[in-house]
Amino acid sequence: ETVFVARESNPDEGRVSASPDSVKKLKTLGFDVVVEAGAGLLSRVPDAAFESAGARIGTAADAKSADVVLRVRRPVAAETASYKSGAIVIAIMDPYGNEAALAEMASAGLTAFAMELMPRITRAQSMDVLSSQANLAGYQAVIDAAAEFDRAMPMMMTAAGTVPAAKVFVMGAGVAGLQAIATARRLGAVVTATDVRPASKEQVASLGAKFIAVEDDEFKAAETSGGYAKPMSEAYQAKQAVLTAEHLAKQDIVITTALIPGRPAPRLITREMLKAMKPGSIAVDLAVERGGNIEGAVAGSVVEVEGVKVVGYNNVPGRIATSASSLYAKNLVTFLETMVSKETGMLALNIEDELVKATMLTHGGTVVHPNFAPAPV
Ligand code: NAD
Repeated sequence: ETVFVARESNPDEGRVSASPDSVKKLKTLGFDVVVEAGAGLLSRVPDAAFESAGARIGTAADAKSADVVLRVRRPVAAETASYKSGAIVIAIMDPYGNEAALAEMASAGLTAFAMELMPRITRAQSMDVLSSQANLAGYQAVIDAAAEFDRAMPMMMTAAGTVPAAKVFVMGAGVAGLQAIATARRLGAVVTATDVRPASKEQVASLGAKFIAVEDDEFKAAETSGGYAKPMSEAYQAKQAVLTAEHLAKQDIVITTALIPGRPAPRLITREMLKAMKPGSIAVDLAVERGGNIEGAVAGSVVEVEGVKVVGYNNVPGRIATSASSLYAKNLVTFLETMVSKETGMLALNIEDELVKATMLTHGGTVVHPNFAPAPV
C-alpha cells in the first residue's frame, strides 16, 4: 500500500505533512512512500532527505495510485478529483463553513479525516494537531510581538539607566496562550493572563503569571466536558470588557488566543480599548483567521489601529514551519498507525473506533460526520 505526501498548493502554506522520521516510521509500518517533489522545501526538508529516509520522489500524478494521501490542508477541487476513489485523505480540513468541499470529497469516494477533530483523550494526545500547532503558535506570537516592539522585553539595569520590563497580557490561556505566557516569561516580561475556563487559573499561576478574570458564578461553570470554553453571556462579556479595558491601559503587549470550537472567535478588544493603550503598544491576534479577537485586526497583515500595532499573521504555525512540520508529521503517522491491522499489516479501517468516529468526514460516497452530514429527510 502506498502513502502519498502532497506538496501543498496553498502559497501561504510552508508546512509539509511528513518528515524524514515519519517516512521511516511509515516504511516500518509496511507502506511505500511517495513524496511529491519539493513538498518539504519551505520546511527546509530537501527531497534528498526524504529519499534517504526511504521515500521515492514523485509528481502530483502519483497521487492517483495512492491508498493514503497526507496533507497539511484540505485538497482543492482539482486535487480531490486526482485521488483514487476509496483513498484515505488526512489533513487539517477546516470543515466548518466548507460543506461544499466536503461534498466534493464525498462524491470523489474519498475517506477524508479532519485531524483537528481528534478527541482530547489520553490515547490521542500524540495525534493532537491543535495542541502541537497551537503550542508553536503561542511561542511565535511572542517572538512576533517582540519583533514589532520598539522597547526591550526584560528589565535591564545598566550604567546608563534602567529599562523597565515589558508588561504582557495573554487573553485565552489554552495551549497557545500557556506557551505564550511561558515564552514571554522567559524573555523577562511581567505577564498577566485571563481565560473564561476556571481550570486555567491554576495553570496560569503555575507558569508564574497573574490571573485576571471576572470570577462570578457563570465563570465557575464555564467549561464543557471536553475542556473547551463555552460562549459566554452578553452580561459576562460586558463585565469582562470593563476589567479588560482597565487592565489593557497598563500593558505594553497583548496577545489574544481566544477561540470557541466551531464558532467565530469572541471579540475581546475594541478600538476604544486599543486607544487607551500606550503609544507603541503591540496587539497580536492569534484568532484573526477565525474572525479575530481584536477589532481592526486584518488577517495576513500588521496594521496600526489607534496607535497600536495590531499583528494579524495568517497561519502562525507556518511561520515556524520546520518545527511545526516535524510535530504535525508525527501526529499524522501516529494516527495512521491506528488504522493498520496488527495481524495483516494492511489498512483496516475500524469505523467503530472513537478516533475514527470523531474525525472521519466522508466515507463510502457520503458526508458521514454528524456535525456536517445533511439533515436526514
Ligand atoms: P482553544 O484553542 O479552543 O481556545 C483558546 C483559549 O481561549 C481556551 O483556553 C478558551 O477557554 C479561551 N477562551 C474562549 N473564549 C474566551 C473569552 N471570551 N475570554 C478569554 N478566553 C477565552 O483551546 P485549546 O488551546 O485547544 O485548549 C482547550 C482546553 O483543552 C484546555 O483546557 C487544554 O488544556 C485542554 N487540552 C487537553 C488536551 C488533552 O489531551 N487532554 C490536549 C490539549 C488541550
